[in-house]
Amino acid sequence: MKSKRKKYLIISVIILVLVVSMVLLGLYLDQRHKDELYEAMKINFVEERDIEYGSALKTEELVLSHEGGALSFDKELDPFTLGGQDITFTLEKEGVKRSFVLNVAVADTKGPVIALKSDQLELDNGADFDALANVESVSDPVDGKLEPYPDNKVSEAAGYYYESDVDVNKAGTYEVKIHAFDKNQNETSSTYQVIVKAKVIPSTGPSINYGASGGYGSLGPEDVTSPTYINGILLVNKTHPLPVNYGNGLDNTALNAFYALQAGAKEAGFNIPIISGFRSYSLQKDLYNRYVARDGQALADTYSARPGHSEHQTGLALDVGALDNNYGNTNAGKWLNANCAQYGFILRYPKGKEHITGYQYEPWHIRYVGKDVAVAIMGSGLTLEEYLGAA
Ligand SMILES: [Zn+2]
Repeated sequence: MKSKRKKYLIISVIILVLVVSMVLLGLYLDQRHKDELYEAMKINFVEERDIEYGSALKTEELVLSHEGGALSFDKELDPFTLGGQDITFTLEKEGVKRSFVLNVAVADTKGPVIALKSDQLELDNGADFDALANVESVSDPVDGKLEPYPDNKVSEAAGYYYESDVDVNKAGTYEVKIHAFDKNQNETSSTYQVIVKAKVIPSTGPSINYGASGGYGSLGPEDVTSPTYINGILLVNKTHPLPVNYGNGLDNTALNAFYALQAGAKEAGFNIPIISGFRSYSLQKDLYNRYVARDGQALADTYSARPGHSEHQTGLALDVGALDNNYGNTNAGKWLNANCAQYGFILRYPKGKEHITGYQYEPWHIRYVGKDVAVAIMGSGLTLEEYLGAA
């Protein structure tokens, strides 16, 4: 009996050892599986950790790829708080979790946005000029709406100032630069052009007095329904108006011809900019009324057309170079006079023909008529009126 009990005991111990071994083995294998899952979890983050203030980047977009489990994160990226942010990304699979902490920094590296009312301003000679009046608004994504610096002097604060060499008493083309800074000293700038027109001086040639009629005929723009063509050439002057609604911009042929002229001038070493092109009836009306208010109608009629009578409404006329009575004496003005016909243009209001054209000498006003007619007119010294037999 004694040996039988001993046998049972031995078998029990063996079974116990086996069971314990199995359990331990199971635990070991389970742990190894978990370790493998953990090790297999990987996240590949974006390289750029500097986030622009106000960025639309989504939190999940910080992760380029991930493997080994389902992705979650503890908080959203906040692009509206400057400075560092820790976001914890977690992968999970079968109860195994692995966390990765990503540190990103929200920074303000963008300067303010400058909105201008216009890219180009035209000023009458001697007019008042406020360089900041052309600024519509300046705003920064972080600092909000900015104000100009007092006395145009830059300080540590956010704000903007201007740089300008505009001389309202000297005809020419100028540039005004607006500089803006946000609190983090990010700078942006924006530029616009200012054209100061020449002082309009009454012609030094034979003085013309057109009387109360201003030299105008009896027909006004309201009286005509079609423009006047003679031998296929459009004629607009004080006796031949255009209908009120005529015209809608520069003529393409004329504009391309002018570009060719400009290229020719450049080759000869001259820069001949366009100063004024198409002017609608209503724009001409505004201009003329302003001149009348300033100089009186009699003088205004010698240099500015009444609405409906401006050649600029045809889309075939351009003011180029400089609105300066002396432009014809400059090398560029001389080149224009000598070469414009080759490109299809005439100087429409020559010196000494004021009594025929009705306007004082304008060395800057050219009119497209096509090369053949232009060469004939410029070669003969006739005005357009004389050439067309309509003087
Ligand atoms: Zn003109």
